[in-house]
Amino acid sequence: MSRRALVTGITGQDGYYLAELLLNQGYTVFGMLRPEPRQNFRRIAPLEDRLTLEVADLRDGKSIRDLVERVAPDEIYNLAGNSFVPDSWQEPIEAGDVMGLGVVRLLESIRAVNPAIRLLQVGSSEMFGQVDIEPQNERTPYCPRTPYGAAKVFAANMVANYRRHFGLFACTAIAYTHESPLRNKRFVVRKVTDAAARIKLGLQDKLVLGNLDAARDWGFAGDYVRAMWMMLQRDAADDFVIATGEKHSVRRLVEQAFARVELDWRQYVEVDPHLFRPEDSTTLRGDITKAREELGWSPEVHFDDLVRMMVDADLERAAVDIA
Ligand code: NDP
Repeated sequence: MSRRALVTGITGQDGYYLAELLLNQGYTVFGMLRPEPRQNFRRIAPLEDRLTLEVADLRDGKSIRDLVERVAPDEIYNLAGNSFVPDSWQEPIEAGDVMGLGVVRLLESIRAVNPAIRLLQVGSSEMFGQVDIEPQNERTPYCPRTPYGAAKVFAANMVANYRRHFGLFACTAIAYTHESPLRNKRFVVRKVTDAAARIKLGLQDKLVLGNLDAARDWGFAGDYVRAMWMMLQRDAADDFVIATGEKHSVRRLVEQAFARVELDWRQYVEVDPHLFRPEDSTTLRGDITKAREELGWSPEVHFDDLVRMMVDADLERAAVDIA
């Protein structure tokens, strides 16, 4: 019988790549939708007829327990939550309820329904905050600087405690920023690749950005969901930093994206200091030694190839706008 996986946040970027991977592995895949009519089915549309979608609410323990009972999964991947970190200052209670307590509701449901269910929780480099140790690994102390980061720390601590105390197979992927053509345009990489494509095709005149020296450890979402899946296939549950180990600046991102469309970025990019983020960290870079050695995982898509992949996808989309 095929294995059953439940994916929360199925309508998001990672939801698409993970669902695709699981379907290719022969899983029966169930996706959780939140009750609000805010879902965007655009990303999962190509997979929709191969998925079973279920509505449930991470803010409601009964709803989650009923979902876990109905689906009877072997594995749960918890990808749900507002991934745009600055929003968590506007909705700190929602962030804590969904991304912090929501994970405890999943853990409690697993205990109640079937303690053999395996749980993958997606944590974040934001858990390290403005850390002065670089690179960070699984032993680096957490010091979150946003409600988002604090909620993810609470979740990671509860996952580790349920693992130790109840013996659950639950683990956290401490994921650094990851991108793809399916990334929302509010995030800087997609904002840049989309702008480069639209400027090339005459649909946009300029691109306004914040700090060009801000730097990130950026990877490809397809690589990161593979790591998440691999984490649940091990004999023992454990947490892993999932990153590339390399940091690149926004300036380099802009150079690469505009080079792809054969334009000089200096003619189109303006810097607006109002867009600088006070809590921006420039030290976040993951040490993936443990993932390489114990998980056998390493990223396959390099930053430059990622930017090219995203610009090419945005060129195709922008061309449709013209047609
Ligand atoms: P996306 O923003 O693309 O997708 C988020 C998903 O969560 C969507 O399905 C969204 O549903 C759902 N969601 C949003 N708010 C809620 C809510 N209040 N209750 C239930 N579901 C909700 O994010 P990614 O796919 O990029 O990220 C997946 C996970 O990985 C997230 O938890 C994110 O925080 C984490 N992460 C991501 C990183 C990245 O760089 N991408 C880095 C580190 C961690 P809807 O369609 O209804 O909005």
